[in-house]
Amino acid sequence: MRLIFLGPPGVGKGTQAKQICEHYKIIHLSTGEILRKEIFDKSLVGNEAKTYIDNGNLVPDRLILGIIENRLKENDTQQGYLLDGFPRTISQAEGFQKITLQLKHRLNGVISLTANEEELIKRLIKRGKDSGRSDESPEIIRHRQKVYWTQTAPLLEYYTQEKILKKVDGLGNITDITKRILETIS
Ligand code: AMP
Repeated sequence: MRLIFLGPPGVGKGTQAKQICEHYKIIHLSTGEILRKEIFDKSLVGNEAKTYIDNGNLVPDRLILGIIENRLKENDTQQGYLLDGFPRTISQAEGFQKITLQLKHRLNGVISLTANEEELIKRLIKRGKDSGRSDESPEIIRHRQKVYWTQTAPLLEYYTQEKILKKVDGLGNITDITKRILETIS
């Protein structure tokens, strides 16, 4: 099973990704988490990514595509994966398509989790108080939402045209949303 989770910051992609990965026994790949670890380790990639992340901007496509390509060539991802937070631009989606063609990986679906924007901002501000993340101040949260709508939302149309986009309401309790996602996939 190979899936992509799309959705604005705060919609619960990370939480749902964990549930779905457990269900299908597949690898959860969150580019945000990978980047935060690189920053923590003070690696070259981490050093390059830090300013973009702290300002709520997207890290350059080439850097992200390099991370994904390496990760998808490893053994543990051959049984399946869920991409959480990737792709985030049309150019990343095109790069991803090339990688999957090369690896002969077929995508099973793209799940778009939806929610009202003001509700998301409220949720994120609450989470930001104790997440310890450097990009969860109210101003950066608003900026990240804007970045999503301008740079990432065009992917909804892209995957609609590919006929693999499935929309799931991301509001409600965690178990209900997981059920909705599983029903949509099967
Ligand atoms: P996330 O944990 O998915 O909210 O990502 C946190 C931050 O990491 C984002 O605001 C971006 O700065 C960066 N990031 C994560 N994934 C990507 C991606 N696919 N492309 C560019 N930047 C990304």
